[in-house]
Amino acid sequence: MTEGKSFFIDTTKCTACRGCQIACKQWNKNPGTKTLQRGNHQNPADLSVYTFKLVRFNEVAIPGGEPKWYFFPDQCRHCLTPPCKEVADGKAKGAIIQDEKTGAVVFNPKVKIKADEFKEIREACPYDIPRFHPASGTMAKCTMCFDRVKEGMLPACVKTCPTGAMSFGDRREILERANKRLEEVKGLYQEAMLANPDDVRVIYLLVDDPKKYHKRAVADNTIGITRKMALRRIFQPLRSMTIG
Ligand code: SF4
Ligand code: SF4
Repeated sequence: MTEGKSFFIDTTKCTACRGCQIACKQWNKNPGTKTLQRGNHQNPADLSVYTFKLVRFNEVAIPGGEPKWYFFPDQCRHCLTPPCKEVADGKAKGAIIQDEKTGAVVFNPKVKIKADEFKEIREACPYDIPRFHPASGTMAKCTMCFDRVKEGMLPACVKTCPTGAMSFGDRREILERANKRLEEVKGLYQEAMLANPDDVRVIYLLVDDPKKYHKRAVADNTIGITRKMALRRIFQPLRSMTIG
């Protein structure tokens, strides 16, 4: 599915205000959790079943200069061909669904899974997004606010962002916007890039080495995904021929 909806997250406009993180928690009625001050602006330390959106903060030392800050509002990328779903389909059918209209990848709380099944699903995600609640046997992550989107509203995080760092809309328009902005910033930032725009619905504009933002700012196993897709393309017609 290549149409549907997409996000554009322009990190050059993000001030790490964390408005999107709070709006996500509010809309999803996720409780606050006890956290520790770890000596930096990021809080909590990681995504969890109660934190679907996390503004990651990284401080990089510059020899002889001021440290540089990198802000990265992390969330599920709503992959076009989601590896998490491919694994889940073979383990617990219906545990992960993909909305036909928007392309949102949604974890279904009605389908319970086991811890070892979850482990495989999490390992399949190139961005390390899925989280698990062992007591209930359910997984959690960003839903693309599909309940808001189907009513014509923006996702809560996008609606809240005060700087225009986040936008959301039809995939074609979002891709155009992302590519236009990439061209605009290239003069200032030679390393400017879009993170995996052909594979995901949450497209980040980064202007430096992705690892400086977050170790999974870009897919960890692009080769794995690409190889899998290539194999599927080869074997799908053969399968249909055999069955037909
Ligand atoms: S980012 Fe991870 S959890 Fe989200 S759709 Fe892709 S594989 Fe699934
Ligand atoms: S609300 Fe916007 S500016 Fe604030 S942290 Fe989120 S993306 Fe960045």
